[in-house]
Amino acid sequence: MFENKDNTTTGIGSLGEFGLIDHLTKNFKIKQKSTVKGIGDDAAVISCNSKKELVVTTDLLLEGVHFDLSYMPLKHLGYKAVIVNLSDVYAMNAEPTQITVSIAASNRFPVEALEELYAGITAAAQIYNIDVIGGDTTSSTTGLLISITALGTVNKGEAVYRSGANENDLLVVTGDLGAAYMGLQILEREKEVFKVNPNSQPDLEPYSYLVERQLKPEARKDITRLLKELEVKPTAMIDISDGLSSEILHICKSSKVGCNLYEDKIPLDPQVISTCEEFKLDSTTIALSGGEDYELLFTVKQEDFPKIKANPHLSIIGHITNEKEGVHLISRAGAKIPLIARGWNALNAEE
Ligand code: ADP
Ligand code: MG
Repeated sequence: MFENKDNTTTGIGSLGEFGLIDHLTKNFKIKQKSTVKGIGDDAAVISCNSKKELVVTTDLLLEGVHFDLSYMPLKHLGYKAVIVNLSDVYAMNAEPTQITVSIAASNRFPVEALEELYAGITAAAQIYNIDVIGGDTTSSTTGLLISITALGTVNKGEAVYRSGANENDLLVVTGDLGAAYMGLQILEREKEVFKVNPNSQPDLEPYSYLVERQLKPEARKDITRLLKELEVKPTAMIDISDGLSSEILHICKSSKVGCNLYEDKIPLDPQVISTCEEFKLDSTTIALSGGEDYELLFTVKQEDFPKIKANPHLSIIGHITNEKEGVHLISRAGAKIPLIARGWNALNAEE
C-alpha cells in the first residue's frame, strides 16, 4: 500500500540519509529533564546523577548493504559491528561501558557461523573492556542483520558535541584517511577475479594496511586519554564514518560555522596514495568521501596549538570560519572549492 507505484509517494532515496532522519524526527520534542541531548549527535546524552552522564548510540549493519560475507569473515564482522558503535561513544569524549547485541539470521547460517560472529564480538568486548549485557535474537527471511547499542559514561559537563566549534578554532583529525575505502576496492576487485578463476590466490601483501582497515577497524580509544594528558578539551567532535567532507559539514551545520580545509594537510597513508594511482582515483576525493575510517575529527581553540602541533596521532587540517564564509576545500593549487557531502549513502547505493 505504501509502494511507490503511481508516483504519488516520495522515494526515500530522494531525501538522502540525513534528510530522511531530519524529516522523520523533526516533530520529536524532549519531555524528560534527564535527556541532555537527543537526536543529532554521535550519541544521545542522559543525565544520571550530579557527577555522571550516560551516552547511548546504536548502529545497524545489514548483509548486502553494509557487508559482503564473500570476503568479510564473520569473526571480523562481529568485531567491526562493536567498533562502529564504540567509535560513536569516543566521539562524545565518553568511555564505553556496555553493549547490547541483536541479530536476525536466516537458516542459511549454521550455529558455527554465529559462534564465529560472537567470537569477534567477544574479542572486541575484551579489548575495549566492555560488558555484553543483552540483546535480541530472531530469524530473518534473507540475510544477516546485526544491531548493536553501546552505552558509555562521561563526567558531567565533559561530553563534547558536534555543535561546539567556534570561529578561529583549529580543525584536527586523528590517524589517516581513505584506507578503509581503498581496502574495500581491493576486496571487490579480488572477488571479481575469484569469480573468473576460483583457483587464483590473491596477493594482498602490498595492500595489507588497506585490507586491515576495512576488515578490522579499531575505534580511537587512545584519543580521549591523550587529549586529557595534553590538557586539551575539544570544542566539537565527531567520528569519521561517512567520509571527511560529510563529517565536517555536520560539525559546521551543528555549530553554525564555516570552515577552510587544506588539501595538502589531509593525512594519507602511502598505501592509499599508491593504490589510488593504481585505480586512477584521486586520493583527496577518497579521503573526503570514502568513509569507514573511524578516526576522530575535532576542533580545538587556537591557543591549544602548541599542545597538539607535534603529536604524531594528530593532523591540523584546517580552521573554522564564520558561517557566512561557507565550507571550502583549499586545493594544493590554492583554489577554493565548496565542500559537498558525497559520503557513502546506503539509501542511494543502487544509483
Ligand atoms: P552516526 O553516523 O554518528 O552513527 P547517524 O548519522 O546514523 O549518526 O545519526 C545521526 C543522528 O540521528 C543520531 O543522533 C541518531 O541517533 C539519529 N537517528 C538516526 N536514525 C534515526 C531514526 N530512524 N530515528 C530516530 N533517530 C535516528
Ligand atoms: Mg558518528
